[in-house]
Amino acid sequence: MGRGLHGTPGLAVGDGTMILNLVVPCYNEEPVLPETATRLVALMDRLIGDGAISDQSGIYFIDDGSRDRTWDVILGVRAARPDRVHGIKLARNCGHQAALLAGLRNVPGEALISIDADLQDDIEVIPAMIEEWKLGHDIVYGVRSGRKADTFFKRHTARGYYRLLGMLGVNIVLDHADFRLMSRRALTALERYPEVNIFLRALVPLLGFKTTSVYYDRAPRFAGVSKYPLGRMISLALDGITSFSMRPLRLIAYAGGIMSLFSFLIGAWALYIVLLTNRGVPGWASIVVPIAFVGGLQLASLGVIGEYIGKIYMEVKRRPLFEIEEIN
Ligand code: UDP
Ligand code: MG
Repeated sequence: MGRGLHGTPGLAVGDGTMILNLVVPCYNEEPVLPETATRLVALMDRLIGDGAISDQSGIYFIDDGSRDRTWDVILGVRAARPDRVHGIKLARNCGHQAALLAGLRNVPGEALISIDADLQDDIEVIPAMIEEWKLGHDIVYGVRSGRKADTFFKRHTARGYYRLLGMLGVNIVLDHADFRLMSRRALTALERYPEVNIFLRALVPLLGFKTTSVYYDRAPRFAGVSKYPLGRMISLALDGITSFSMRPLRLIAYAGGIMSLFSFLIGAWALYIVLLTNRGVPGWASIVVPIAFVGGLQLASLGVIGEYIGKIYMEVKRRPLFEIEEIN
C-alpha cells in the first residue's frame, strides 16, 4: 500500500495520508439523503482541510434495494461531488446488517466508519473517533449517552433485550448500535467470519483488538420513517440470541433433568401406593408411572440432542478461533 501500517511505531497515523471512508446503508431514504449527504460531505471536507485524513477519503452510500428514488439521489450527489461521494447498489433488499457488511467488505480505506443514513447518530463525534484511531484503537464504538429521542416502547424493549443478551452470555456494548469506526486490521479480521446470520453488534466485540468508545446524544430521525418495524426488530433480536448463545438449548436440557427427577419421584410414589397401601385403583399405577417416566425421559433426551445440535451449529459457522493482533 505504501502507506504507514496502522499501529506501526514511528509512522504517524492520520497524518493526512490515511484514507478514512464512511459507509452509509440506505433503504428508502429518499427524504433524508440530500441533507445527510450535504452534512457528511461538509464534515469530510473539513476533516480533509484540517489534515486529519487523506483527500482520497469519501462517503460510500450503500443502496439496499430501495424501492423509492434513493439510488437516483445517490447518483445525483455523486455527480455533484465525484471526488467525495460513491455509491454501491445492492441487487435487492438484503437487510440493514447485510448492507452494512457489503460496505465493510468492499469499501477500501485504512479505516471505515459505519453510520445510519438518518443521522440519528451525531456526526460531530466522528473527529473524536478519528482521534481515538490515531491513538491506536482499532475499534471505536459510538455509544449514546441518552435515549431521550427514542419512543418509550423502543427504549424499554431495547434495554430489556440488551439485558437478556447479557444474561445469555452474549457480549455487546450497551447503547451502541452500528455507529462505529473499524481499522483495516479489524475489518480483515471480520472477513474471517463467514457466517450468514450476522448481528454485527455482537460479532465485532468478539474480534478483540484495542477498543474504546465515544459518547453522544441520539437525535430523532429528521425525516422519513424507521425501517425497523416490530417484525424486523424481533427477527434481529432473535438473530442476536440464536447466533451467539446455546443457552436456550441448554435450558431444555435442564428442564428435562428436573422433569425426570420429578417423574421418578411420582413413579416411586405411585409404586408405594400400589404395593404398600390398599388405596391403589387397579390400572392407575401402570398409567401414571410410564407417563411420568417417558415424559421426563423425552425432555432429557431432547436436551442431550440439543447439546449436540448446539455443537454442530457452532462448528458449521466456521468462525476463526483466533486473531493475531501483532507479531513482534
Ligand atoms: N436499512 C437498510 N436496509 C434495511 C433496513 C434499514 O439499509 O432493510 C438502513 C436504513 O436506511 C438506515 C439504517 O439501516 O440507514 C437504520 O435503519 P433505521 O434508521 O430505520 O432503524 P432505527 O434507527 O429505527 O432502529
Ligand atoms: Mg434510525
